[in-house]
Amino acid sequence: MSNENSHSQVYKLTLKIKRYDPEEKRSWVQAYNLEAGRILRFVDLFRQINDEQDPTLAWNSSCEHGQCGTCSVKVNGKPLLACELLVENAVQYFQTRTFTIEPLNVAPAVRDLVVDLAAAYERIDRVQPYIIQPGSPPSEQDAYPIMPQSLDHYVNATRCINCFCCASACISSHNSFLGPNAMLATIVRVMDPREQEKAKRLKILYSEQGVYRCHSSRACSFVCPKEIDVAHFIALAKEGRILNKS
Ligand code: SF4
Ligand code: SF4
Repeated sequence: MSNENSHSQVYKLTLKIKRYDPEEKRSWVQAYNLEAGRILRFVDLFRQINDEQDPTLAWNSSCEHGQCGTCSVKVNGKPLLACELLVENAVQYFQTRTFTIEPLNVAPAVRDLVVDLAAAYERIDRVQPYIIQPGSPPSEQDAYPIMPQSLDHYVNATRCINCFCCASACISSHNSFLGPNAMLATIVRVMDPREQEKAKRLKILYSEQGVYRCHSSRACSFVCPKEIDVAHFIALAKEGRILNKS
């Protein structure tokens, strides 16, 4: 029997996982019942299923420290990092011990919870998420200091790990929209005083692929595991208030 009243609390859980078999081109939902300690993470549960019940369940992870974005999945409809979701927190947040686990819907499934992010990354590549044209360092030491008051305006946005949770939650259904994380990546560089190539970036931001495809739902901000207020940055861009922040 589970001990549910102590520090070693064990929860009886049901994980209903969306499976996909690429050979058979078949999707189905498979339920796994398991017992898990309160501080196990959802990646630990997937591993437990592999070890104890079903070695064929496919899922992805890499750093398992919330820094790489590889383990993004949808739990009860919410995109999140499976390495950051503890059993106890999930039970409290969702008020259930039954969880539906699906792959992100922003990319085609490869197998089970593994998706092919190549096309999604192509959208990031299109905005060139790096300094295209660096300005000359103002100091003689070849260093480029950024004033704290300038950095404060956009430093949170630099924490993006491209986990695609925001893109998966985004309600903008327009096919050409580059998506919240691609918008964020180019907004950061517009606000970055080291970047001289602003015009090219503004052209993308205000193109038919850009910020005006956003419906300001704030779903992106709600799900971001790095607590970036993505919608705020998109709103600043819509209002033309990103250039004078640098
Ligand atoms: S903005 Fe947040 S949710 Fe979106 S890709 Fe970056 S880290 Fe993930
Ligand atoms: S605020 Fe805009 S970018 Fe963010 S989820 Fe909503 S529609 Fe998408």
